[in-house]
Amino acid sequence: MAINRIRIEIEGIVQGVGFRPFIFRLAGTHAINGWVLNNSGGVIIEAEGEPAKVSAFLRDISAEAPPLAAITSVSSEKIASQGERGFVIRPSAGGTNKAQISPDCDVCADCLRELFDPNDRRYLYPFINCTNCGPRYSIITGIPYDRPFTTMAAFPMCDACRAEYENPADRRFHAQPVACPDCGPRLGLVDAKGETVSGDPLREALRLLTAGGILAVKGIGGYHLAVDACNDDAVRELRRRKQRDEKPFALMAPDLQAIARFACVDDIEQRILAGPERPIVLLPKQDCNPIAPLVAPANGYFGVMLPGAPLHHLLLRNNFIALIMTSGNISDEPIAFRDDEARERLKEIADLFLVHNREIHTSADDSVIRVFHGNPLFLRRSRGYVPRSVKLPATQRSVLAVGGELKAVVCLTREDRGFMSQHIGDLKNAATLHSLEEAVAHLERILEIKPEVVAHDLHPDYLSSIYAAGLEGLPQVPVQHHHAHMASCMAENGLEGETLGVVFDGTGYGLDGTIWGGEFLLGDYRAFRRCGHFRAVPMPGGDAAVKEPLRMVISYLYDIYGNALYDLQLPCLAEVGERDRQLYLKMLERGINSPLTSSCGRLFDAVAAMVGVRSRISYEGQAAIELEALAEEADTNAIYPYSIATADDNMVLDMRHMLHSVVDDLQAEEPRSVIARRFHNTVAHAATDLCEKIRETNGVNRVVLSGGSFQNKLLAEGIFSGLSDKGFEVFTHRLVPPNDGGLALGQAVVAGMQNR
Ligand code: ZN
Ligand code: ZN
Ligand code: FE
Repeated sequence: MAINRIRIEIEGIVQGVGFRPFIFRLAGTHAINGWVLNNSGGVIIEAEGEPAKVSAFLRDISAEAPPLAAITSVSSEKIASQGERGFVIRPSAGGTNKAQISPDCDVCADCLRELFDPNDRRYLYPFINCTNCGPRYSIITGIPYDRPFTTMAAFPMCDACRAEYENPADRRFHAQPVACPDCGPRLGLVDAKGETVSGDPLREALRLLTAGGILAVKGIGGYHLAVDACNDDAVRELRRRKQRDEKPFALMAPDLQAIARFACVDDIEQRILAGPERPIVLLPKQDCNPIAPLVAPANGYFGVMLPGAPLHHLLLRNNFIALIMTSGNISDEPIAFRDDEARERLKEIADLFLVHNREIHTSADDSVIRVFHGNPLFLRRSRGYVPRSVKLPATQRSVLAVGGELKAVVCLTREDRGFMSQHIGDLKNAATLHSLEEAVAHLERILEIKPEVVAHDLHPDYLSSIYAAGLEGLPQVPVQHHHAHMASCMAENGLEGETLGVVFDGTGYGLDGTIWGGEFLLGDYRAFRRCGHFRAVPMPGGDAAVKEPLRMVISYLYDIYGNALYDLQLPCLAEVGERDRQLYLKMLERGINSPLTSSCGRLFDAVAAMVGVRSRISYEGQAAIELEALAEEADTNAIYPYSIATADDNMVLDMRHMLHSVVDDLQAEEPRSVIARRFHNTVAHAATDLCEKIRETNGVNRVVLSGGSFQNKLLAEGIFSGLSDKGFEVFTHRLVPPNDGGLALGQAVVAGMQNR
């Protein structure tokens, strides 16, 4: 009888995810002889058997891979047969490690069953895990991914755990975080001074939550603050202590049935919620729901997740409809994840701390997703997804890209893979810059990447740009902000060649020194040309105009009415005192501290303030988010007038007619929601119109949509369907955020391609 032998090489996330035991079992199923081992590049197999069985074995490797595995390539070649008997797992071969590390993952169905099985030795044990589940990225201290290089090194395995760990037929074979109540980490409940609270930690923690208290909970990637989401007083107290006036709090619910009591969930959202990554998904609120109104005021959505760790299952099951689970930080600081530091920073907020002694080595905030056209649209890509790689359009030299200023994320590339870091936060102080430096060092270490070039934003004053300038010996490539946005969307869609980028966001340093943000860019990774933009207006007071949308109202109206703007009978203008009126006017007349901007975000802010959504914001993007919620209440396809002017091959989108009409509608007391909706329709229509004009002269038919404004679903849908209807090929983000959290990917590819 014929016997075949093949050598198979597998790359991707194939180590630390139960891959070798899976191969071992598969070999048994198909009567295959040979061996499997981990090497530097991933997994190597030699398999020998009847030809049909060998083919079936090869097919099933991809078809039935374990849940946490992510195979990026399988190659096989025929070699001489050796007449081997049996199948073995061989010891790992050394060498440079190119294998990829798995992200952190929620408890699997098997472990969950054991967690609630009174006869299991891990009954109610909050640190249960196996090769198919548990913490990964957050506990790794170095490579290779092995117990001594995780924060589990401090816990020697007991005999029972070791037997499971060493048995290839066991679900816990080489599960590095394996532990049990006899040998593993333990739960504790402490107060702000670190003093242990007597009694069972879980029971006492639940008692606190039920009584309306605030509990800090140590999770996978950092501390959360937990509060009963249906308790109005508790939620109000959390807002007061956290100094967070309006930004929505995330919720965690025990299961999908509980979520359905307060939010609307479709099939795709259910699948994303229940996936092992356990992200926060934005879901429309149910009209009548038991959640305290202060959880997400003036917002049409709840950010909801399912339990992401065994401890969360223990807290939620049979206890609450939902808990608030908000990042353990004071507004805008990085998430707290080291025990002493967390207690120090959260001592004024939390009543008690539910802690444990398994150290978190790398922080990871919760990921946040919104579903758009059946695909995930990331608002934040962090825990559960990091450090999964993004495939780049081509192999390039190794780049470190340091991102922008807000929602900082760094990216390291190796060959044709981009590795995005966890969400680091707004890079406005030394603490976040330090987190960025740690993220870079950690990724370089565990991925064994030595970058050859560093890419950064063109803005010279961003802390990330200053950091890049200080990296000795690395050539620097500055990348224009919106070019980076466009490139990130092209890269994740594998596009090459000339593309039109519609990039709408808040703030980005332009080539001409003005602030860009409503841009139509034509080009590729190497070069681009600005061929259209929103008409620029001054921002009175610079950054102050970002925090106070009312200033933008005055600027846009000044652009139309000049000094006569204060004659308009608009409620929002009535808020401006005489002194401020004269001050803003002087700034606008003389251009004092009023940089020019073509930002789409500022236009949204201004319209939001005009219709009375708000004149001041307490978190980034708030005015636009609330304007979108208002617009969703109306149903109209009507648009406002606008015009497009052509100057030097560069088209200017002029929205003055629209704003004039908005003023008229406000004075005619049209419903605010209708005005908000018409505004969204108009921006989408105008953007489509401008793309068509660019296509007329350049013939470009491929469009990418990027920039923070595309977090707005109404706007994104409007532009997407407008362009599709006109026959454009339209690409959006699915793997990295359209906001500045995706910027580093674009920077990395621009710098990598320029040096190819
Ligand atoms: Zn498991
Ligand atoms: Zn044990
Ligand atoms: Fe941006």
